[in-house]
Amino acid sequence: MLRPMADTFRALVLDKDGDATKVAVREVPLADLPQGEVEIAVEYSTVNYKDGLCVTGTAPIARTLPMIPGIDLAGVVTQSNDAGFAPGDRVLMNGHGLSETHWGGYAQRARVSSEVLIRIPDAFTSRDTMAIGTAGYTSMLCVLALEDAGVTPAAGPVLVTGAVGGVGSVAVALLAKLGFEVDASTGRAEEAGYLKALGANSIVPRSELGEPGRPLAKERWAGVVDSVGSHTLANAIAATKYCGTVTACGLAQGPDLPASVMPFIIRGVKLVGIDSVMAPRAPRQRAWERLAQDLPLDTLASITGETVGLADLPEVGKKILAGQVRGRLLVDPNL
Ligand code: NDP
Repeated sequence: MLRPMADTFRALVLDKDGDATKVAVREVPLADLPQGEVEIAVEYSTVNYKDGLCVTGTAPIARTLPMIPGIDLAGVVTQSNDAGFAPGDRVLMNGHGLSETHWGGYAQRARVSSEVLIRIPDAFTSRDTMAIGTAGYTSMLCVLALEDAGVTPAAGPVLVTGAVGGVGSVAVALLAKLGFEVDASTGRAEEAGYLKALGANSIVPRSELGEPGRPLAKERWAGVVDSVGSHTLANAIAATKYCGTVTACGLAQGPDLPASVMPFIIRGVKLVGIDSVMAPRAPRQRAWERLAQDLPLDTLASITGETVGLADLPEVGKKILAGQVRGRLLVDPNL
């Protein structure tokens, strides 16, 4: 294991290479850390779909270069200019410009704004929080939106799409723990056992929802957590029960929404957009408190896959974009 030299730290850096962009692990001077109130020794980060887009250069996530990717980080405060945080505090951060306009979590050190920095709940280690990461925190934002819209287990089954992915796996586990009957939609039939162990009641083949469908279908679900978009989201909306609620947070199938207004005007279906990135502190805090309450650690362990090092990230990024990652992956910046 490499240790940082006193005045540098190790990071995965996205940088210009002529007209192209290159990504490489290198030592970065501590003096180059960006502005921010709180400096952190990063213990763990993770790999989300958006990280895959960034490290493979598939989408222009980084708006300035050089950029340290990684939309999530967790670790220990080393220095703070904010009275609310002191050296030794255990903290985590999701999104809010990380990997876009501000250096992120694929590094041994970070300096960030304290605006949406969250104290790690007592129930979790820094590793646990990154096993959850933006994907799991977004799942909880979706679950809270369903609850806020009045969706209860008594209202009927709920649907989770992209179920074997990060957002999907945590959503299945949370909804099952809360007493919902969960239908899990996946393109990976071989993962039915994994989804049932997380609490899924039944498996809906991806093909059933992924093709163009009717504007209104048989009423099946009281609520939906959709991380897929496109025809899948349109078909989920069309099969949502009277006054049910659909939460839309992702675009793994596509960013389009080829849907009809019929479910909205005939059945009073609600469509709620979920954004984790710029969410203010209050909903973040609420989501993390509820994760500590409602996500059992043994369930989290079964969702958590391998721990990868910084140099592995470009290859791992390709896998997540290809839908080949199950559950959640951890990143140890010291590996
Ligand atoms: P993952 O890659 O872990 O999961 C995505 C899942 O979507 C895959 O595992 C697969 O599930 C399914 N999928 C992949 N390709 C297709 C396809 N062509 N058609 C249908 N289903 C497909 O990613 P995450 O869980 O990290 O993220 C999921 C989505 O949510 C992404 O689009 C991401 O950008 C978005 N997101 C948005 C956030 C927000 O703030 N709004 C925050 C976090 C994520 P299966 O194998 O089960 O079929």
